[in-house]
Amino acid sequence: MKKMVITLMGVLCLVGGVYGLLDYRAQVRQFQTRRQHKLRVVTTNSILEDMVHNVGQEHIELYSIVKRGTDPHEYEPQPTDIAQATDADVIFHNGLNLETGGNGWFSKLMKIAHKQFEKDVFAASKGIEVQHLTTNKNEPDPHAWLSLANGIQYVENITTVLQAKDPAHADAYRKNANRYRAQLRQLHRQTQVKFAGIPTKQRVLVTSEGAFKYFGQAYQVTPTYIWEINTESQGTPEQMQAVLNKIATADVRNLFIESSVSPKSMGKVAQETGLPIYAKIFTDSLATSGQTGDTYYTMMRWNINQIYAGLVG
Ligand SMILES: [Zn+2]
Repeated sequence: MKKMVITLMGVLCLVGGVYGLLDYRAQVRQFQTRRQHKLRVVTTNSILEDMVHNVGQEHIELYSIVKRGTDPHEYEPQPTDIAQATDADVIFHNGLNLETGGNGWFSKLMKIAHKQFEKDVFAASKGIEVQHLTTNKNEPDPHAWLSLANGIQYVENITTVLQAKDPAHADAYRKNANRYRAQLRQLHRQTQVKFAGIPTKQRVLVTSEGAFKYFGQAYQVTPTYIWEINTESQGTPEQMQAVLNKIATADVRNLFIESSVSPKSMGKVAQETGLPIYAKIFTDSLATSGQTGDTYYTMMRWNINQIYAGLVG
């Protein structure tokens, strides 16, 4: 009797073991057919690239299309960009007409790469409160990331998409996002307090492109500019006259230039007004790797400190 029980238990263990192994193999096969590589993510510009990197970390492969220091409004996709976009599991663009304004390079690229909006391609700016161009009220102003409050929303949107596309790492994405968002939130609050101390008359920020609408709303600064958006003609005599008139009626102490536009027109404004160009600030691109402003956080911190010091004079 005892012998029979032992034999029976042995058979059961063997059967259980074989079933367990088969089940495990099936699971592995299923996982392998699902994805044999890390989630492949493509972004249109370096600001989105850095946000995605902060959330995805080592769990993703990341490629960014428009190189640092280059204007993302107008761009000519290269063969590598087409290959990377075609192979991507998910693509992030800013939206709000940043990449689809002007020559619409991004929509064309997505067509060539056979990618669909909302299925493979997502706007990081989804859900933010949109501001519009003053020259064309139907066109959104794309520069929403220049308010840290919006940047925090971008990170949330990116996280939701990464979690849906790669559920195996959903917890890691959430953890990374929470830590990163807390850093951004702290800088946002510090900036609100810091800028509240600037005298009202001095709250006029002069740049080449009118990229500071969202920044201006977040930190109570009035943006003044030569041209409104990089897709329009830059530095026409009418635009030059208009900015000089505005400067004449405000207490402007310094001018600013942006890292991704030509400094020529602002140089002329400096000549005409006798005002110094205080600093180069970042709008549509991060600094090259290793330089100050090579992440979204450090770019914003640099801008905030330079703009504050320039306005206070
Ligand atoms: Zn721009």
